[in-house]
Amino acid sequence: MPIPPLYGHEGIRNRLAGALAAGRLPQALLFEGPPGVGKQRLALWLAQAILCEAGPGNGEGCGACRACKLVLNLSHPDVHWFVPVEPPKKAADPDKLVDLVADALAEEMAARREGPLYEPPSGLAGHGIASVRLLLRRLALTPAMGGRKVFIIGDAERLVPQPGAEAAANALLKALEEPPQDTVFVLTTAQPDALLTTILSRVVRVRVAGNSDSVLAAFARTELGLKSEPEIVQRVAAADGCIGRLLAPEQGGPASGESEITGRFLGAAEGGSARRYAFALGQQPFQARGAFTDMLDGLLERLRHEARNGADLDKVVEAIARVLDARRLAQGNVNPQLIAAVLADDLAEHA
Ligand SMILES: [Zn+2]
Repeated sequence: MPIPPLYGHEGIRNRLAGALAAGRLPQALLFEGPPGVGKQRLALWLAQAILCEAGPGNGEGCGACRACKLVLNLSHPDVHWFVPVEPPKKAADPDKLVDLVADALAEEMAARREGPLYEPPSGLAGHGIASVRLLLRRLALTPAMGGRKVFIIGDAERLVPQPGAEAAANALLKALEEPPQDTVFVLTTAQPDALLTTILSRVVRVRVAGNSDSVLAAFARTELGLKSEPEIVQRVAAADGCIGRLLAPEQGGPASGESEITGRFLGAAEGGSARRYAFALGQQPFQARGAFTDMLDGLLERLRHEARNGADLDKVVEAIARVLDARRLAQGNVNPQLIAAVLADDLAEHA
């Protein structure tokens, strides 16, 4: 199934198309803007324009040639779209890890071909060192079809999974410093401040602003098939210019439910052992995946946010490590009551 067409963003499209037609497109770009605004979709649009077999003359992909169709089906061999993936289990050798990441990415792309409207990555997913090694491997290949390769790195702030863990970002840096002639990099992020300054200094930053309500309404009618005008008006208003937020209309629902449960957990962690165990016993046994891991993801997001906003780094890093441990246990289907109790004790100890 091809991905939905790109809606809106005319100003940026014109600028990028002009630069491409003039042969002046920078080789390393950073699209920055709010979550769900369409940064990665815009990057795919640019990839299509770069690889279109009709040539870069008009700066837009023709939409009809073989290359355009392959890009729109997420199957073009020279478009390397890296999205955050959950780190493979430890202890595999480095080459094996790279293969496992390649598998995880292929799986993610297969899922997006099936259902092109995707959700934000989980809190544990990132661009680890194995992802960057895979990228460097592909960077060394000559293009399979056309003369050029496009690398898209979505949610690029996940190159630094936690403060101080900069190995992956530093490994990418070398490639950004001297990209091969045939290569264009597009990084995207909603949190440019979370990228290393060394990365920021090597990319041309492009701000991607929200679209107008009429663009969102057109998307809602055509791509989502919404018929009820009051519903469209209400969802468009709530989406605040971001098509991605149209897709999760309940963002006042599950998302805030998730942060509500995360907040309750943090309250419990700080509230003495009686409250901690009360919270732990309130978790559903035998359902570690789902709501419970969502809660842990929410917790991770919150800790990362605290780290960026000047909280005591050592403590936050320690807390993140504890939550990641709990996340791994949850994946192994250990009883959530037990995990919640141990994690709450750990966090209370390190608070
Ligand atoms: Zn084309």
